[in-house]
Amino acid sequence: MAKLLRLFANLEITTCLDTTTKSITYSSTGKSLLNTKDINDCVNLMINPETFKINSQQLIPCPKDESECNLIQNSQLLLNEIPVELQNLYYGVYPNNQTLYNDVRFIYNKLLNYFPHAIYYPKVKTQISYLIKNFINYNLEFAIRCGGHAYEPASLSSGYILDVKKLPQYIKINKDRKTAKFSSGLKLGYVVEKLAEYSLITPTGENSCVGISGLSLAGGKGNLSRIYGLTCDNIVSVKMINYQGEIIRANANKNNDLLWACKGAGCGNFGVITEIELKVYEDIYCQFETFKWNWNAKHVKEIYSIYQEWILNLPKTISAEFNMTYNNKVANFSIKFIKFDESDFIENNIFKNLHNPTITVCKGYYSKILDCWVNYDLGLNPPFSKIKSSMIFKPINNEAIDLLVNSINFYLKKGYEFQY
Ligand SMILES: Cc1cc2nc3c(=O)[nH]c(=O)nc-3n(C[C@H](O)[C@H](O)[C@H](O)COP(=O)(O)OP(=O)(O)OC[C@H]3O[C@@H](n4cnc5c(N)ncnc54)[C@H](O)[C@@H]3O)c2cc1C
Repeated sequence: MAKLLRLFANLEITTCLDTTTKSITYSSTGKSLLNTKDINDCVNLMINPETFKINSQQLIPCPKDESECNLIQNSQLLLNEIPVELQNLYYGVYPNNQTLYNDVRFIYNKLLNYFPHAIYYPKVKTQISYLIKNFINYNLEFAIRCGGHAYEPASLSSGYILDVKKLPQYIKINKDRKTAKFSSGLKLGYVVEKLAEYSLITPTGENSCVGISGLSLAGGKGNLSRIYGLTCDNIVSVKMINYQGEIIRANANKNNDLLWACKGAGCGNFGVITEIELKVYEDIYCQFETFKWNWNAKHVKEIYSIYQEWILNLPKTISAEFNMTYNNKVANFSIKFIKFDESDFIENNIFKNLHNPTITVCKGYYSKILDCWVNYDLGLNPPFSKIKSSMIFKPINNEAIDLLVNSINFYLKKGYEFQY
């Protein structure tokens, strides 16, 4: 660890801001041993200069001469620190493979700027065991990664990253047990589409690129949560490689306490999960209705106050989600309603008469109308993002509503070009 800190202190990584293009360039103000002159070697990210700072460092103006913007990280120093057993593995991406390395060292949130010594994509379990044994033996810092959609750098490390994406991918459905086993590197889009082929469903989130591992082991909230619980509530068993590099299973009969712990705390804590078994359910009929209003601060406050009282008395077959959105100088707010039965959707009538919403409707069996609810992430990730999530258990007060509404008013006034 001391070694790692010293290395990064030497590099003096700073971030420079080009105020005309609003782009951020990471660069080293210290000596760059790579001495790269090509601006393409820098990582350019669009950023709102007034809101975000990177790694708590002050943004500084970009140097006038682009050649000063050398590649930030010193690959040779990093390579020299890798124990011989972990060097030159064909399933590893090392810092000297600059293009690929600079691509895969990032996750969804490009603000999280880490320089691992290597990123490994094991293809079989024995390779995971090998890596873990060496990480433990050399007391190396490492992180496990699946979909890379953690809000914070939970799947990043300045040491090593073990990514499960390239393990053999499979889904094994057991209709009698009403479960499916998923290999741990799958993304949600694939999971819901495969289950849909069998008219089966399981509670997940909506973003197609979130990893099944991170979602299930952390919680997993989505449209089906009110009827079937979080994804973690539906874990039946897991297979993992533990800190000794051994394969272990946890289910109702074996290592039951470990299974319990994995349901919410399994992210990177007890081992590398290689398989997750989840309960699956027969498809159900559902109705999505979205009511959308143009931005009007008074209307948002009025409708939000009514909404948060209204949701308290809903049956479990109805879910709702209130959104306030700012997108490149345009703001609006909306409520997404979901009802899981075929009777007329009348429970939300109260909102139909409030300030003339634009209403869109989508109905059908849940697994057959994926386009209505799956957010197909086309890889057009925002170049940076900051997401925070917290649970609230009571209606929020007027002061808190004002805070939310005023934040959007503020962006509208400033005319920022970003999404909120
Ligand atoms: C755009 C976006 C939309 C989202 N939508 C939703 C949503 O609708 N519902 C919801 O509940 N959440 C949602 N999330 C949050 C997301 O589900 C969690 O952040 C989740 O943990 C991400 O999992 P991942 O595998 O993609 O991420 P990663 O960053 O790869 O991993 C997240 C955590 O899981 C650990 N981990 C990953 N794989 C393994 C493994 N095989 N073994 C052990 N530990 C492992 C990592 O070490 C890390 O701690 C969203 C996030 C984003 C960015």
